[in-house]
Amino acid sequence: MRIVVVGGVAAGMSAASRARRQNPAAEVVVFERGDWISYGACGLPYVIGGEVQERRTQGNHVPESTLQDVPDDEFGVLVARTPDQMRGQGVSVRLNHEVLGVDARAATLSVLDRSSGRTVQEPYDRLLLATGVAPVRPDWLPDTLQGVHVLRDIPDAQGIEATLRGGAKRAAIVGGGYIGLEMAEALKRRGLSVVMLEAGPEPAGRMLDPVNRRLVREELERQGIDLRTGVTLEGLSAKDGRVTGVQTSAGRVRADLVLVAVGVRPKVELAQAAGVRLGHTGAVRVNASQQTSVAGIYAAGDNCESLHRVSRRRVHIPLGLTANRMGRVAGVNMAGGEARFPGIVGTGIFRVFDLSVARTGLTQQEADSYGLKAVSADVKSSDHAGYYADARPIWVRLTAEQGSGRLLGAQILGHGDAVKRIDVIAALLHSRASVHDLEDMDLAYAPPFSSVWDVLLVAAGKVK
Ligand code: FAD
Repeated sequence: MRIVVVGGVAAGMSAASRARRQNPAAEVVVFERGDWISYGACGLPYVIGGEVQERRTQGNHVPESTLQDVPDDEFGVLVARTPDQMRGQGVSVRLNHEVLGVDARAATLSVLDRSSGRTVQEPYDRLLLATGVAPVRPDWLPDTLQGVHVLRDIPDAQGIEATLRGGAKRAAIVGGGYIGLEMAEALKRRGLSVVMLEAGPEPAGRMLDPVNRRLVREELERQGIDLRTGVTLEGLSAKDGRVTGVQTSAGRVRADLVLVAVGVRPKVELAQAAGVRLGHTGAVRVNASQQTSVAGIYAAGDNCESLHRVSRRRVHIPLGLTANRMGRVAGVNMAGGEARFPGIVGTGIFRVFDLSVARTGLTQQEADSYGLKAVSADVKSSDHAGYYADARPIWVRLTAEQGSGRLLGAQILGHGDAVKRIDVIAALLHSRASVHDLEDMDLAYAPPFSSVWDVLLVAAGKVK
């Protein structure tokens, strides 16, 4: 049995390891077009911002990352497993190998070895497409202009680092999604002045209801980010091959570092070439076993749709845990075992300076757009007993179905780990629980951690 995986990051490497463990007799081969495998792209903003190195030198460094064959580079800390470690587990990793095409009838791939320039045909019995997403590139974005960046992978981050070391002083971030927000903080930490340009009325538009987006805006402004909303981008200005600014509908913004973070699109070219069916989101349609519509071909990770357990719709929400979970399921099934991916509930979390933001399920706006009869309650409280030092504000919005009280979603904003309370709601959404179930729950209490009536319990009592 020859199992071939295309893409060597979260979904691909989870699948490869799992397949090999499930069936030690199987030959497992991973083709990765880049130089890096198995790394946490989620950590890139924190490495760029210098926070990862700072915490490591402060002695808060957690895992021992003494990996032998990781290049000597600040981004090496993000690597979880190296090609050598994978080989030790019986997984063959081919770096700098780009899969150019799939012939599903012959069950072969055409693979370009980017180092030698040679293309060879590789057979498979089971194939996993774990090709991820690509950043959306607006028409006005040139292919190469010094100082202009997207952020998806380690080479992108190395490019940003080079611009920073080249003395960049003014950054323009195009797009107020979570990557743009995390990078606003990172670049500010590196001493740049930061302008954020957002086409919509508020940042974090796709993740939160308007009431909570305002808190994100206030935090950005409090931290000295020059946020300009309702602004459309028209082009870039440059001199001597270097970016000098961004042309917007509201005038020119000077910048020597421009980060374009306006969304991603699933990489589905290989899937299409193989005749695999895509879903209405444009991502690969898979069943609960991560099988595509073509026999022997599986898909997992950011390039796939998943079933949203609250809306019961297929959605494209590309996130790290989802990619790992899907990869694990695909690995088991490709190797002859049985596993099912139960779907997602739309949980996400990020930090913007001193504000932590978490959400799960549906926002009120999403529930309305799906025609659900939903109500929301907002509670502002403190994240632990008010009399206890360091109690900080926390905002909870709970959304439930009118009448039945079935929980539909939550948004929690606050400080530090306090917003990890979102996991309570995520767990309840997985079991289709109601606000009444939440109201009756035995949640943990001691003054350093919460009030006796935790803010979640208070919010549950308010949703009517
Ligand atoms: P990818 O990580 O995109 O890997 C796909 C791989 O396939 C790539 O290495 C690519 O080179 C390779 N490939 C593609 N086509 C081919 C081909 N034809 N031949 C060979 N190889 C190919 N998620 C969270 O849950 N929480 C976070 O806080 C978070 N923060 C993030 C911050 C940033 C800056 C970024 C960029 C992402 C973040 N994510 C976060 C998202 C998370 O990183 C992704 O969900 C995860 O990496 C998806 O893994 P994947 O394996 O599906 O795809």
